[in-house]
Order: sequence, then structure tokens, then C-alpha cells
Amino acid sequence: MKYVLVTGGVVSGIGKGVTASSIGVVLKACGLRVTSIKIDPYLNTDAGTMSPFEHGEVFVLDDGGEVDLDLGNYERFLDIKLTRDNNITTGKIYQFVINKERKGDYLGKTVQVVPHVTDAIQEWIERVAMIPVDGEEGPADVCVIELGGTIGDIESMPFIEALCQFSCHVGPGNFCLVHVSLVPVLNVVGEQKTKPTQHSVRGLRALGLAPNVLACRSEKPLDENVKGKLSQFCHVPVENIFTLYDVSNIWHVPLLLRDQKAHKAILTKLDLLSLGEPNLRK
Ligand code: ADP
Repeated sequence: MKYVLVTGGVVSGIGKGVTASSIGVVLKACGLRVTSIKIDPYLNTDAGTMSPFEHGEVFVLDDGGEVDLDLGNYERFLDIKLTRDNNITTGKIYQFVINKERKGDYLGKTVQVVPHVTDAIQEWIERVAMIPVDGEEGPADVCVIELGGTIGDIESMPFIEALCQFSCHVGPGNFCLVHVSLVPVLNVVGEQKTKPTQHSVRGLRALGLAPNVLACRSEKPLDENVKGKLSQFCHVPVENIFTLYDVSNIWHVPLLLRDQKAHKAILTKLDLLSLGEPNLRK
């Protein structure tokens, strides 16, 4: 199993869900079977009790799971049927760990965030990634994991630590980190500004994760010199930096990725470059 982790920087609502779904679409169009996991670092066990005014639609899965609306995006983009376990929350993980502790499963050990919570997160990801979601038999080839929230949030720290350990555990060639960041334009200066992305990549590195691909959200396509600057300061090859500029219809985002050859960058990192070009209809 190969894993693509999608993180977000600078601001919330940057488009991680749409980006993660679109990456899945492009990989599927390359002939891979794709599944997905959404991590929500809040303490609610699920989205069922959360106000739609604050959090958007509560998406209800076929198994009755009440989850974040991003899972609806995954199902629609990838034509898959997810389970409630494809949505991991801090609440679910802690509930699992505390239930284990009450049963005495930790054999008298002090139960800690590292290793017990981080192990629970990794085991959950590996278990759920193996569940077939596309009606075919056997596990998918690639699991796209979206980490909700923004890099630097206190509540996502156990997940970041778990994912650092996980990337070592699955090894190079099986893990690709895509960081979605913001490149704003200051009206008075009229320039695309790279500093917010530089800071968020620095934050990500400080936590032990280095991005392989940058997906930059901006109003207009990135200037070549802006890409060069991002590459230099964020240590990401320029061919792995993409613009996901504002489009009128989010179904165009997979086409943006394909046109900029994002699949090449991701497949190279996953040791799958021998696969053909994605077959996406315009
Ligand atoms: P996050 O998962 O980071 O909270 P979402 O994926 O839910 O963000 O996206 C937030 C909003 O931005 C949604 O309304 C989505 O449709 C929109 N969006 C995402 N990417 C783009 C894009 N490239 N162009 C226009 N709108 C976008």
C-alpha cells in the first residue's frame, strides 16, 4: 500500500479536501485503485453533533457514519463507498485508547500520547486503508490521507507525530507528502507573496515532515519566478510545485493537476512512474 498525505498551511478552508479528492481522481485515471482517509483532529467522536452553520454539511455514509463533508467529496470524485472508520477523529482515537486502558490491555504501563496514542493512529490508518471501497476485491493501491486543520495547530500534534513515524515505517517510495498552501496577492504591491508558504513549510519541517509536492492556492496561476522562489526557500523541486488557482467549478481541479503533470511528481515519489498518463475526460 502506498500513501499520499495531504496537509494544509496558512489558513483553514484552503482546499485540502478538494485537492486530496482531485489527487485521487488523477491517480485513479492512471490506473490505480484509490481509497481515502480523513483525519479530523477535533475531540468530537464524529461530526453528527456539530453545527452545520459552523462546519458545513454533515455527510452520512452508507453504514450510518456521520462524518465531515470532505468524505462526500471523496465518494463523489472517486466513485467509492467509505465507512465510518475512514474518518478518524481525536475523539475516536482517545475513546479507543481509554477503552483499552480500562480493560487492562496496557498491562500496567503508563498510557501516553507517544507511543500509545500515536500507535493507535498508525494501526487505525493501516487497518482502514486495507478495506476495499470501490466494489472490487482486495485492498486499493493507494490511500490518500487528508489531515484536517492547519499545520501548527496544537490539536493536530499527535497526528503529525504519528504520521512522521508512519512515513518512516512505510519507507521511502511508499509515502508522498503534498502540502497545500496559500500564495496571496497584496493589492497595493500586486505581487504573489511566498512568505506565508515559506513559514508554513518551515513549521512542517520543524515537526519532522518535509513536503514532496507543494499545491499552491492562489487567485491566478503562479508566476515562474514565484515558483523558483518557493522552490529555493521550501526545498521542493520546481517541477513539484503546482498552482491550484481559483476555478469556477471544483471539478476542474483534477484537470489543473493533470495539465501541470502533478501525477508525475507523485508517481515518481511513490516509485510508480512506469504507469501511463492519466486518462481524464475534458
Ligand atoms: P479544506 O478541506 O482545506 O477545509 P475544502 O476542500 O473544503 O477546504 O475547500 C474549501 C472551499 O474552497 C470549498 O468551498 C471548495 O469548493 C473551495 N475550493 C477548493 N479548491 C478550489 C479551487 N481551486 N478553486 C475554487 N474553489 C476551490
